[in-house]
Amino acid sequence: MKLICANFKMNLLKKDINLYLKKINNNLNNKKVIFFPSNIYIKDFHDKNYLVGAQDISFQEFGACTGDTSILQLKELGITYTLIGHSERRQFFNDDLYISKKIALAAKHKIKIILCIGESIEEFKDNKTLEILKKEIDLALKNNLKYLTTSNIIIAYEPIWAIGTNKIPTNLCIQETISLIKKYIFTTYNLKVKVLYGGSVNENNILELEKIKNIDGYLIGSSSLNPDNFLTLINKIN
Ligand code: PEP
Repeated sequence: MKLICANFKMNLLKKDINLYLKKINNNLNNKKVIFFPSNIYIKDFHDKNYLVGAQDISFQEFGACTGDTSILQLKELGITYTLIGHSERRQFFNDDLYISKKIALAAKHKIKIILCIGESIEEFKDNKTLEILKKEIDLALKNNLKYLTTSNIIIAYEPIWAIGTNKIPTNLCIQETISLIKKYIFTTYNLKVKVLYGGSVNENNILELEKIKNIDGYLIGSSSLNPDNFLTLINKIN
């Protein structure tokens, strides 16, 4: 079954969350959906028995890290997954410095990791996609092999230029890149990983994306914010 991740980013207020929960009530049609709301709403989803994850975790377990949230605190709220290395974290919060530590912490505390990787438009145009993806994979995995298994890490391939832009790579391009990611991680780290696609997935392009054979699921940002649209979208996913 495909894995569907709904990344709300820093959107929605309490009244929107209440309405969202009302609308999706019992309507997920047995799809495997993980919600990634802002931390303050994690418990709302957990209390209704939905799978819920954090959009990020602190690289420290506890202590002097003002403004951050510890994985132990997030676990208390009910997360079983976390995104790590979303391109917005890499861009605004220098996340590359902390990704390896975050992976180790998540694995240590038995939280499943969705590692986001992806190239910029310049790198894509320069044919550097694979080089960049390998670098991001190595940074995250190479010091953490003792903690990682096929079931605790999933990759989300998200070309940065496709996030929130309504631009999307061709099916062939996505398929080839996913296949290269799987092959690289298997040959280098002996891990058979699942790979999600993320970047401007919506209810209009999902049927075309569904033709891609090696996609294991989707990471969906903007199109997860409206519950009606999101339900339409997920019902088109096998
Ligand atoms: C994302 O932020 O992970 C994402 C895929 O966003 P969007 O669907 O809006 O492109």
